[in-house]
Amino acid sequence: MSKPTLAAIDAATTIFNLPGYRVLDAASMASGRRRVTVESVDPPGCPGCGAVASRLKERRLQRVRDIPVGGLVELVWAKRRWFCDEALCARKSFSEATVQVPRFARSTRRLTDQVVSAVIGSGRAVSETAASFKVSWWLVQNAVNRAALALPDVDSLAPRMLGIDEHRYRSVRFFQNPTTKAWRRYEPWMSTIVDLDTGQILGIVDGRDSTGVGDWLKARPLAWRLGVQVVAIDPSAAFRKALRMWLPRTAVSVDAFHLSMLANNMVTEVRQRVTQETRGRRGRSVDPSWANRRLLLKGTEKLSDRARNRLDVVFAVDDPTGRLEAVWKVKEHLRALLRTGSLHDAEHAKAELARLVDLADLPETRRLYRTICRWWPEIEVLITTGATTAKVEANNTAIKHIKRTARGYRNPDNYRSRILLTSATRTAA
Ligand SMILES: [Zn+2]
Repeated sequence: MSKPTLAAIDAATTIFNLPGYRVLDAASMASGRRRVTVESVDPPGCPGCGAVASRLKERRLQRVRDIPVGGLVELVWAKRRWFCDEALCARKSFSEATVQVPRFARSTRRLTDQVVSAVIGSGRAVSETAASFKVSWWLVQNAVNRAALALPDVDSLAPRMLGIDEHRYRSVRFFQNPTTKAWRRYEPWMSTIVDLDTGQILGIVDGRDSTGVGDWLKARPLAWRLGVQVVAIDPSAAFRKALRMWLPRTAVSVDAFHLSMLANNMVTEVRQRVTQETRGRRGRSVDPSWANRRLLLKGTEKLSDRARNRLDVVFAVDDPTGRLEAVWKVKEHLRALLRTGSLHDAEHAKAELARLVDLADLPETRRLYRTICRWWPEIEVLITTGATTAKVEANNTAIKHIKRTARGYRNPDNYRSRILLTSATRTAA
């Protein structure tokens, strides 16, 4: 009576829907789960010689983790072991393996596919995904890591333009050496290498020095490296060193945004120094230069007439020596220089910048001008190609989102898998 009919077995198999398997039995358990026992449908081939199995050796029950099917399921595979009857084969017997549960696997393929899609496709946290599938955190993270390993080979791509940028993947920590009691600052940085045409992340390397990026470039085939025409970087001497070494014939462009940021920092330094010298204290809200400190950093073309008037008040009232206005003019002129459309215009703008720097006559402006001169070949590439690290920055924003949902990965390898996979999925979409 209790023995299921053939029709009932087929109905259970259809409902359970695990490709390559047939349901043998289903039973409710005290925990509220259901135990589903399955066996594989097709006779396997011997991994040694390929001969199709025909003589059964033994049967063992193996638990396999699976997705919930109409509620939580405990899946048991009645796994068979077969004799190999091929006389010349060194293997005497072998176990079954299927597409859904390959050798050594403890989970079904459909489970790992679904957890990877929850993490990568829907951007859910690994811990949250693990909880909803009632599996361990490790199972989910390992599935993501394995999926990242299966990504198409970077060397099979032929990027024309690269962008390299750094980001910090977790906050600064301090470690104390137990013997010397000395504290060491630890800043976990990663550098990302992005295809500027597609926006896809090609690589992530530890640190932000020349060896990390250098080793990554060195590992690429020669033809790959020769195919790269332009690389955009932020003004980092370490990146430039790695590029000169491994992409000596590639034009290097420096990012305009990062140079503007250097100019903005210069304005802030001079503002603080001028306040300290004229008032003998730090800036307060009663000081026009402090109250309008953000206006000082804003691009002049974005200022309303009212804002422009407020800046004039700052220059007239707050700094009778005229230093703040002089340094502001240097900053604005540098921004204009970076926007010029030809090398001819850029050369003229550079001469004018030199004149303004001389007029300002401040250590801060001279330092900025020296930086501009040191990076002049890269600025020329920027002006002619327009290659910026903006796409890398966009990726870094996506990385920050991953960081938020991931609530801080501690292991850089896990972090890397997730970033590469998310980027590859977004590029393909
Ligand atoms: Zn065999």
